[in-house]
Amino acid sequence: MSSSSCMLAVDDPLFFTGNNSRRIIPNLTFLPRAAVEQQRKLVIHTAIVLGVPITLITQDTELRRALYYFQRPVYAISYIVLLLFSLVMYFLACLVDPGYLPLSKKKILSLNNNSDEEDIFEDSQMMNKNTNYRHCDFCEVQQPMRSKHCEDCKRCVRKYDHHCPWLEACVGERNHKFFWLFLLSIASLILWTIYITWESIVYKLEWIQWLESNALLFCDLFVLIVGGMVVFGLLSFHSYLIIQGLTTWEFVSRDRITYLKYLDDSYNPFDEGCLCNLYHFLFHWKLRRWETVYAKKADAQSTSNGGIV
Ligand SMILES: [Zn+2]
Ligand SMILES: [Zn+2]
Repeated sequence: MSSSSCMLAVDDPLFFTGNNSRRIIPNLTFLPRAAVEQQRKLVIHTAIVLGVPITLITQDTELRRALYYFQRPVYAISYIVLLLFSLVMYFLACLVDPGYLPLSKKKILSLNNNSDEEDIFEDSQMMNKNTNYRHCDFCEVQQPMRSKHCEDCKRCVRKYDHHCPWLEACVGERNHKFFWLFLLSIASLILWTIYITWESIVYKLEWIQWLESNALLFCDLFVLIVGGMVVFGLLSFHSYLIIQGLTTWEFVSRDRITYLKYLDDSYNPFDEGCLCNLYHFLFHWKLRRWETVYAKKADAQSTSNGGIV
């Protein structure tokens, strides 16, 4: 990857929605049951993430000595910061707009939603001018490249990755980094907590006494190991995709995606090099015009092949 490839900044705010800022609380006004389900998941997740450390504080563990007796302030503060960070990332991944495409005026009127009507209409009109977009019959909008309609959210999402049942939300261009940071932080927290729990298991001569004395710790270990296997699997998979410049949808459905299925399997038009992919993923806040990235990569490929595509 050359450093110049990092300069493929092709963001054009005018191309996208009128408001390029991150919008908190996605529009779920026409999906009240989804909003209720999401709130339920938020409560369950928070209860598990706080519940395991609380049970450890009630036992004779390093966490109790650090947090309750405050014998090791740096240890205690580090643990609390990591725990809070993972919770905040989870909430952001849930609540930040994943990159919903603005609905057409016709669709909005049919939903009787008057909020931000004019802005959204103008955005849709701007997008309709580009005839290269695919059309979503449900949302009645033109889809930019890498966008996909989500059957669960009933909305089209930019750079659609997947609909996460644990977040009860879509993962798309705007919230994917929060999702990955959540996985990274919760994986670190799980590893640390497994170590604390394992170190706290007490030895007894009788195995029944041993089971009774450590029952709560074994329950914690079960939750941590089962949750840890899921989290580490997801973290590895998403880290690989991010470095490759792919989304989950593109990875699993390449043969069905119009802009990918005719390309060589080893060629990814959105791959700008590992470091550049990672940099854009973590530090780039504006929405990107993927059609231009696609075209520039094709031009570069054509040039390196001596003009033969
Ligand atoms: Zn749609
Ligand atoms: Zn969705």
